Amino acid sequence: MGNELHDLFSLQGKTAVITGASRGLGAGIAKGLAKAGADIIGVGISDMSSTQEEVERYGQTFTSIQMDISENGRPAQLKSEVLQQVDRVDIVVNNAGIIRRSAAEEYSDEDWSAVIQLNQNIVFQMCREFGKHMIDMGGGKIINIASMLSFQGGLRVPAYTASKHAVAGVTKSFANEWASRNVCVNAIAPGYMETDNTVPIREDEQRNSFITSRIPAGRWGKPEDLQGAAIFLASPASNYVSGHILCVDGGWMST
Ligand code: NAD
Repeated sequence: MGNELHDLFSLQGKTAVITGASRGLGAGIAKGLAKAGADIIGVGISDMSSTQEEVERYGQTFTSIQMDISENGRPAQLKSEVLQQVDRVDIVVNNAGIIRRSAAEEYSDEDWSAVIQLNQNIVFQMCREFGKHMIDMGGGKIINIASMLSFQGGLRVPAYTASKHAVAGVTKSFANEWASRNVCVNAIAPGYMETDNTVPIREDEQRNSFITSRIPAGRWGKPEDLQGAAIFLASPASNYVSGHILCVDGGWMST
C-alpha cells in the first residue's frame, strides 16, 4: 500500500523544466518537484544558486540555463538547448511572468506589450514546443501558472489580467487536443502570495489589510503552499486531469 501511494505521486526518474526558478513561486515549485524525485532544469535571467542548493539537498540534479525567454523563438531555442543535455523532458512549468502596474487610463503600450509578450505569447510558444516533444515521447505534463486574475479583473494591471485570462484559455485549448496523447495540460492559479512580485501591494498598508481580511485562510500564501498542487499535476495521480485551473488561494475565489 505504501509503495502504491508512493508510486502515484512519485516523480522519480523524471526531468522538469521550470522557467523563472531563481526565486518566488518558481523556486518553491522546483523544491517541491525535487522532493518528489524529479531532476530540475531551471531557466531564467537571475542567479539560481539558492534553488540549486535546495534541489541538491533532496538528492536531485539541478541544471541552470541562463536565458531571457521573452523574445519570440526563445522557447524553440530553449528546447534545443535542453535536449542537448537530457534525452527527454517529462514536466514543464511555465512560471516566469511579469507584472506592470499603473492606472488604466495611463497604461502604456510598452507595458502592455512587455507583459503580453512574456506572460501570454511565450507561454503559448512554450506549450507548443515542449508539447510537441512530449507527444513524440508518448506523454508529459505541462503546468502553466495562472492567477486569480485569470478569473477577476484586478486593479491597475490590465495587461496582466488579459495575459492571465489567456493563460487559462491556452491551457484549456492545448489540453483538449492533447489529452488523448497522454499530454496533460493544466494550470495552477495562485492566490495572493508573498514574493517580490507582490511587494508593492504588501507595502501599501491599506491594500494589504483589505486583501488579508478577504482571504478565508487569514494569511497570504507562501511559495511552499504550491508544492502539493504542483506534485499532483506533475505526477501519475493526475493522469485523468486535463484543462483544469487549480486555485491554491486560501479560499479567495470562494468568497
Ligand atoms: P517573481 O518576480 O518573484 O519571479 C519571477 C521569476 O521569473 C524570476 O525568477 C525572474 O527572474 C523570472 N523571469 C522574469 N522575466 C524573465 C524572462 N524574460 N526570462 C526568464 N525568466 C524571467 O514572481 P513570482 O511572484 O514568483 O511569480 C511567478 C509566477 O506566478 C508569475 O507567472 C506570476 O504572474 C504568477 N503569480 C504570482 C502571484 C503572487 O502573488 N506572487 C499570484 C498569482 C500568480
